[in-house]
Amino acid sequence: MAIARALINRPRIVICDEPTSALDVSVQSQILNLLQDLREELGLTYLVISHNLAVVEHMATRVAVMYLGRIVEEEDADTLFSSPKHPYSKALLESVLTPDPSLGIPDTHLGAAYPNPLDMPTGCRFHPRCIDVMPHCGQIAPQKIAFGDGHVECHLYDENRGKGSLAS
Ligand code: SF4
Repeated sequence: MAIARALINRPRIVICDEPTSALDVSVQSQILNLLQDLREELGLTYLVISHNLAVVEHMATRVAVMYLGRIVEEEDADTLFSSPKHPYSKALLESVLTPDPSLGIPDTHLGAAYPNPLDMPTGCRFHPRCIDVMPHCGQIAPQKIAFGDGHVECHLYDENRGKGSLAS
């Protein structure tokens, strides 16, 4: 019913905010497949907002990773899922649970310093939790660095302040 309501005015862009979060697992794939069929039939563009990486990988052609209100990495979905560049993107992908319970909970190496959005960390907002943090990360905010048709915000790829290597 919500999908029908969203499409009744024939939009060109539909915002899907956590489209499967309230659904039983058995229904989730049916809804995602329906959304994809509708995208093809009606020529829609979806803006999908989700914490569920399986949903993102299934639906997205481009992905923007946000941390504390900033887009820290953005590129086509295949590149992001195969070779993430920002340490937060890498941690997100490493956090995906596997069906094998013997493997336990993945260690993302994220620090447990949860930030206060009302008192943002200085410099790079991710620095209190970053496994690759460098001395200047807490003082200087990283700039957007372009590569290919995407970009990343991280000093690791800053030729002046980090390793300065970023394959395009
Ligand atoms: S700028 Fe520094 S703290 Fe921020 S993600 Fe990159 S390496 Fe980590």
